[in-house]
Amino acid sequence: MSLELFESVVTDEPSGRRSAASMIDPFGRAISYLRVSVTDRCDFRCTYCMSENMTFLPRKDLLTLEELDRLCTVFIAKGVRRLRLTGGEPLVRKNIMHFIKGISRHIASGDLDELTLTTNGSQLPRMAAELAANGVRRINISLDTLNADKFRKITRWGNLDRVMAGIEAARNAGLKIKINTVALKNFNDAEIPELMRWAHGLGMDMTVIETMPMGEIDADRTDQYLPLSQLRATLMEQFSLRDIPYKTGGPARYVEVGETGGRLGFITPMTHNFCESCNRVRLTCTGTLYMCLGQNDAADLREPLRASESNARVSQAIDDAISRKPKGHDFIIDRDNNRPAVARHMSVTGG
Ligand code: SAM
Ligand code: SF4
Repeated sequence: MSLELFESVVTDEPSGRRSAASMIDPFGRAISYLRVSVTDRCDFRCTYCMSENMTFLPRKDLLTLEELDRLCTVFIAKGVRRLRLTGGEPLVRKNIMHFIKGISRHIASGDLDELTLTTNGSQLPRMAAELAANGVRRINISLDTLNADKFRKITRWGNLDRVMAGIEAARNAGLKIKINTVALKNFNDAEIPELMRWAHGLGMDMTVIETMPMGEIDADRTDQYLPLSQLRATLMEQFSLRDIPYKTGGPARYVEVGETGGRLGFITPMTHNFCESCNRVRLTCTGTLYMCLGQNDAADLREPLRASESNARVSQAIDDAISRKPKGHDFIIDRDNNRPAVARHMSVTGG
């Protein structure tokens, strides 16, 4: 990883604008992107993400949606230009649409460039149109297979028909969709060309992700882990992949696929560290701020939020947290390192 990259301030906001109140970390990275896990609960139990019997965060510790709105608003005042709702499954949190509608006022005012979400798609048949009506333009939908039996196997509780209906509803509502696929050895590696042809055929971008060692799961991660360098080499036997500078503000590196005309992104936290351009922090539904997906250091924002009606204390707590943002993560999966790098599941911070 190049140190030079850390020395320049990164501003990859779509607007290219930097707010006067920018948060800059010790490595010169401007923090302009907040991911909010609005719940750690989910209607699926994907095998790489959760164990079947999960202990979720106690309900009494949850921030109310009003408190979450207040916190997001403080972050926006401090320079956040993009907000992604995630989870758990963000669309299963009660009254989430009311929250989304409230946050969209920052889009209308121009203080926020984008409000988006990552979803498993199960609630989209009933919610896609309302999302579009409330300022959401772009969503990520997670889908690891097009085979109904395999879908049930990997999600444990999911139903492929319902997710397909959700994708259709989102397309009909005019939402721009990116399909997120976790690449899993001996599960969907052979199917990825078909998934990609399908996504590109419907005008959707697709991103493949390496499994990360987060939280205890029932499966063995060394059995699941597929380095994307290997997947890329296999794809290059069938497709012409051209590196392109396309950026969505996230960590994916994109190629254009000659045969489909579509874009394929690679998120490679394991084989290629992407930390040098990290512009984000992650807030959990209990008000804990994680400065890095792969590290344990965190800041409690709930206490300062609740301690005062003024935002001064919470704003100071955010500044203190950003001043401790680490340089990067160090995930390893192999036979000698078959333990989670961090104890929390991906569903706590939302990826
Ligand atoms: N429930 C929503 C969904 O599945 O899109 C949002 C939350 S989910 C935690 C966000 C993304 O993280 C999904 O694309 C999921 O596939 C991915 N994910 C979950 N656990 C992972 C892990 N251990 N390694 C890599 N990606 C993971
Ligand atoms: Fe739920 Fe998303 Fe985790 Fe699957 S990946 S269990 S849908 S939070």
